[in-house]
Amino acid sequence: MKARGSVYSFSRAPTGRAQCRVCKRLVGKGEVRLVTFACVSAWPMPRRSTSFVRHVECVTPGFANAVLKVHGVAENVPVVGSLSAGEVVRAREVLTVVGHKRSLKLKSISPSNGSHLPNLSDR
Ligand SMILES: [Zn+2]
Repeated sequence: MKARGSVYSFSRAPTGRAQCRVCKRLVGKGEVRLVTFACVSAWPMPRRSTSFVRHVECVTPGFANAVLKVHGVAENVPVVGSLSAGEVVRAREVLTVVGHKRSLKLKSISPSNGSHLPNLSDR
């Protein structure tokens, strides 16, 4: 039972008035955003639920991991409303990629240009 905590979904901004939680800029009308529903009291009758929105581009590793923790994989994150297949794929990809960076502990975000790992034990 996952009664508490937040749930997440993708949707299209119905207005251009919601502010992105991360960059504080407005999420433009029609843009794909990630919505956080934070339930602050008991299921199934939450007295108060708050939602936050953020740009897909503004997903941070910590946030992506929180989403993946709740939903398992990005493919399980529900889509509310009508998004095109391409938009959904892209949004989920961002979530997956950003989340995986965290699990690599942001070790290397240098562009991969085919360089090999150094041979540490080569004497
Ligand atoms: Zn933003």
